[in-house]
Amino acid sequence: MLDAVYDEPSMSTTKRYNLHAVKTIVQHSVAPCSAACPAGIDIPKVQHHVCQGEFLSAFETLTLENPFPSTCGRICFHSCETACHRTVQDDAIAIHCMERFVGDLALNREFLPSIKKLPLNGKRVAILGTGPSGLSAAYFLTIFGFSCDVYDSAPSPAHSSQWCIPESRLPKTILNMEINRIREMGVKIKCGHSLSPDFANALVSQYHAVVVGSGISQSMTFSQCLGNGNTTLHGALQTRKHPRRIELGNVTVELGKIPVLYGGGWYNGIQSISHAVASGKTAAISLYAYFDTGSSAIRESVEISRVGNGTAQSMDIYLLGERSRASSCVVAESDIDCTGFPSAVRVDPLYVESGFVDDGKKMMEQTFDTPSALAEAARCYGCGYTTHGKKQC
Ligand code: SF4
Repeated sequence: MLDAVYDEPSMSTTKRYNLHAVKTIVQHSVAPCSAACPAGIDIPKVQHHVCQGEFLSAFETLTLENPFPSTCGRICFHSCETACHRTVQDDAIAIHCMERFVGDLALNREFLPSIKKLPLNGKRVAILGTGPSGLSAAYFLTIFGFSCDVYDSAPSPAHSSQWCIPESRLPKTILNMEINRIREMGVKIKCGHSLSPDFANALVSQYHAVVVGSGISQSMTFSQCLGNGNTTLHGALQTRKHPRRIELGNVTVELGKIPVLYGGGWYNGIQSISHAVASGKTAAISLYAYFDTGSSAIRESVEISRVGNGTAQSMDIYLLGERSRASSCVVAESDIDCTGFPSAVRVDPLYVESGFVDDGKKMMEQTFDTPSALAEAARCYGCGYTTHGKKQC
């Protein structure tokens, strides 16, 4: 670990802070990596916890914003690394691999997200689609106290993710373990349910809201299956020419009996799994605001929970956690003085036994071992954090 080099609390920028030997750090503004992450993860906090060997806390920081750290740590396109300020000195922090390391370690040690759930509110939500968007919506809605049933026409959850992504990039074992963790929170996943007018009518009569997290395939399925309108849900869906291209948070279609929110951000090459996770989070925050205060609160809730100047939302900010007390300014490169950080090349992941077993064989994967993870996390500047949390800009 690097030596601790930190300045007097009166210091007004992140300059010369190496916070890794300091137990408690406070956020004053937003790190560029966090602003660039579609899921809005508090990346410097994750690095800090890893550096301290606090792996459970690192996992909790990740899963406060994203229920799929192991999956995203493999297939997200990690725009966070492109934004990383460490490149002023040498190489971007290996944020992507760090997420994989923490996520895998949590699965191996059977960590569970310890996010405090709000009491059950008596509201039932049907979610269409068991991909990362739908399951993320279920995860975050469960935290808000909703009861969630997630439906899919496919025979198993996250079918596209399971079968369209090579096993070498995303082992099914990993994805299924992360899905099971969501089940263990009380989410019911019901596969083999095709969309039909009868099914749509049943949804309207049995649930208080519907979230559509339908993904990319068969984009005309909704309007074709629902036929010539006989349901409220049909009316809602027909209002959109391209229902799957509607970003959650931009619209809440409220027709007749129940609100219907559209999700599933993973619809073209520009979007990624973390966009899909983000759309599920937006659905949850929007629905919670809707039932708590009314439809007029949705847009404001989306805005107040944004991470810096990015599009991502943060549950921590929305739930008035530590991040809500920091400035929304993003740390500029000119705020960084790397005096306290010797040059250190990026630590490459190793090809190691990951701790998982598939088909009776121990899985080998490219990831960090613990010493590599500690060394790589120590390279992070902790942008936006100080020992005193004085707000910037
Ligand atoms: S140095 Fe750390 S906090 Fe700063 S941008 Fe890179 S990963 Fe984020």
